[in-house]
Amino acid sequence: MRRDAYESWGRYPRHRPALVWRLWGSSERLPPLREGMTVLARGYGRSYGDSCLNEGGLLLDTRGLNRVVAFEPERGILRCEAGVSLAQVLSLIVPHGYFLPVTPGTRWVSLGGAVANDVHGKNHHRAGSFGCHVRAFEVVRSTGERFVCTPTQHGELFRATIGGLGLTGLLTWVELQLRPVETAWMRVEIIPFEHVRDFFRLSQESDEAWEYTVAWVDVTARGRQLGRGIFWRGNHARRGEAPARLPSQSQGLSLPLEAPSWMLNPWSARALNALYYRLQRWRSGPKLMPYERFFYPLDGLRNWNRLYGRRGFLQYQCVFPPREAESAVEEMIGRVAAARATALLGVLKRFGEIPSPGMLSFPRPGTTLAVDLALEGKRTWHLLEELDELVRQTGGALYPAKDARMPPEMFAASFPQWRAFCAYCDPAFSSSFWRRVTAGMLSCGAS
Ligand SMILES: Cc1cc2nc3c(=O)[nH]c(=O)nc-3n(C[C@H](O)[C@H](O)[C@H](O)COP(=O)(O)OP(=O)(O)OC[C@H]3O[C@@H](n4cnc5c(N)ncnc54)[C@H](O)[C@@H]3O)c2cc1C
Repeated sequence: MRRDAYESWGRYPRHRPALVWRLWGSSERLPPLREGMTVLARGYGRSYGDSCLNEGGLLLDTRGLNRVVAFEPERGILRCEAGVSLAQVLSLIVPHGYFLPVTPGTRWVSLGGAVANDVHGKNHHRAGSFGCHVRAFEVVRSTGERFVCTPTQHGELFRATIGGLGLTGLLTWVELQLRPVETAWMRVEIIPFEHVRDFFRLSQESDEAWEYTVAWVDVTARGRQLGRGIFWRGNHARRGEAPARLPSQSQGLSLPLEAPSWMLNPWSARALNALYYRLQRWRSGPKLMPYERFFYPLDGLRNWNRLYGRRGFLQYQCVFPPREAESAVEEMIGRVAAARATALLGVLKRFGEIPSPGMLSFPRPGTTLAVDLALEGKRTWHLLEELDELVRQTGGALYPAKDARMPPEMFAASFPQWRAFCAYCDPAFSSSFWRRVTAGMLSCGAS
């Protein structure tokens, strides 16, 4: 694979590693490092910004760590090498009546990547983050030492590695506690809403009875329709509510080429948002659907990130604390809409109270809003600086997995415990993201 093939999902920034090393087995030794060279593990590159990039350093491609180590169907415990994807896990466990305890919006994520970003799903209010369900993993340090970590064995390294952005070493395998399900189907309700304020009411009403809740919002609509959207709530269908057979796996489509950069602009983005809103309104109501359509609608179009053309795009994802959430979310959507940005995908989700186990975990009580934005030069940068200010004033945080630009002060405000975390970083492990957000603040071993 060419070195320039190792880009992130947003395709910005374009940082190249000096060297790529493919790993093929969890007992393999790390390659020798040249003096001063940094190293970073990488999964499927589904992080949007630069947390999976290591400019000028060594990148460990972990996708060859793809073996299932052990599966205990009686207890729902699964141990796999860290490069195994969530897609691979699902195809093994669903026929046995299990599901992932937490899943992000794509299944093309490795177990190592899911741990390193302590990812969240639509059930955060019920299940917390991914790390809450991790029983154990192995970390290999640049010295060659291996540590098997659990909440009680090397517990501090366990907590530093969950959400630790790959900076504590290489994960070779991960052991998970799975969630039992009776079928592979979802009972879903699709509810359109007219204004972002309705999202908070719907979330409040739904979180008790529905395991999964999330909303798509139109971040280009203004005035009385500000933040109009579609609320999705779902539960795993029980036996008797769904066909006994497994749903057929759809292959999906693939975007073969990069779209020309002019194709997406403020007007086409507005039109696409309006079209999506109307289509989903028309589809509203109760539905029974295969799990993959509910959890992974974006996986239906592979390489959809090419829609933004060569310039790439950013995702801005923040979380606001519960008390400020309603007004801050309204304010943020208002600013994006008023800026007439080329914004396509807005996603809103309420996080619950279950604490995340990682020292640098992003999920925390409050409401998270994610917006995809085309890169339009200075005006995008100005808008995001305004949004940073709003996040900072309300005591919120930005999500590193989606970030390509937050300044060091914003990182420190989002993760005040980052200095304590530094004690667990491996001195040779680093990323483009880490060097950017710690620039001028301190070197904590990691260069
Ligand atoms: C369409 C889409 C939807 C998404 N939805 C969500 C969502 O709902 N919730 C959410 O939380 N995230 C979401 N994400 C983000 C994604 O889940 C995370 O970025 C995830 O970490 C990507 O995993 P990966 O295997 O691609 O890892 P990469 O992006 O390659 O790497 C991510 C981090 O993990 C580290 N890492 C990877 N493998 C290892 C290893 N073996 N050992 C040590 N460190 C390792 C890397 O160093 C890096 O710091 C979404 C992304 C996309 C593209």
